[in-house]
Amino acid sequence: MTSTAFITHRDCHLHDMGSYHPESPARLSAINDHLIAQGLEAYFLHHDAPLATLEQLARVHPLAYIEQLRQRMPEHGIVHLDPDTALCPHTWQAALRSAGAGILAVDLVMAGEVENAFCSVRPPGHHAEREQAMGFCFFNNIAVAAAHALEAHGLSRVAIIDFDVHHGNGTEDAFRNDPRVLMASIFQHPFFPYSGADSASPNMLNVPLAAGADSEQFRRVVSEVWLPRLREFQPEMLFISAGFDAHHEDEMGNLRLTEKDYAWVTDVLREFAAETAQGRIVSTLEGGYSLSALARSVTAHLRALAEL
Ligand SMILES: [Zn+2]
Repeated sequence: MTSTAFITHRDCHLHDMGSYHPESPARLSAINDHLIAQGLEAYFLHHDAPLATLEQLARVHPLAYIEQLRQRMPEHGIVHLDPDTALCPHTWQAALRSAGAGILAVDLVMAGEVENAFCSVRPPGHHAEREQAMGFCFFNNIAVAAAHALEAHGLSRVAIIDFDVHHGNGTEDAFRNDPRVLMASIFQHPFFPYSGADSASPNMLNVPLAAGADSEQFRRVVSEVWLPRLREFQPEMLFISAGFDAHHEDEMGNLRLTEKDYAWVTDVLREFAAETAQGRIVSTLEGGYSLSALARSVTAHLRALAEL
């Protein structure tokens, strides 16, 4: 068994973009309920997410962007930044907790208190560019966590894996042409946010998949494209943008993965991290909108992280 931290915060349930919005507080409740129903809760080291500090956020986002976002937070009601992405009075606190979860995850893993960590948080982050909130995202949680590992812990090479159905344009924006970071991703293409397929940056290993792509195609990319490049790169820590909207039951996308694929890829990554990165993995929730498929997929991911 591997020691795995489970980091979340009740503030993450309070961010609410409207009752019909698919990126809803019910997502985190579905994950919690399923973990409890499966009798797995006790196997994880539970931590409350701290608030990310301005200094930690500013490693990725300019202070002017952070301040502008803070000033737009409403006292009442909902303010739309774009048709998909909206602020409510609790968004600021939730967004700071989501980014702070990744910071704590890095600190716990680097201190050797746990081998790996999962952040069950929202709002998600991988669409947030350095100066642009979009696609339900405000701060790029995984980029802030990776920057913390590089800047505060002095690591020199980290890999970011992104298996969300959407391209992590924000993470690419944060680390494009940064030789300390290798980003390996799959995503449906052409599809929101319509980026990634034409990336010319040498540290971006983006593999677009056509609508309808299934387990076999996904596993082939992981084994034949991601792993050889990851082995060559020898990262000291692995980050996972863990979106589960490529699940076949998720109506947000049109890929055909199952929870078995999430268990498989997590096993593969855990074994790879054990070989080259002292087992260090920090995973943070991105998408996943079918509540049942999300809860089962996160549970499969967590079982594999913790070798349960
Ligand atoms: Zn997504």
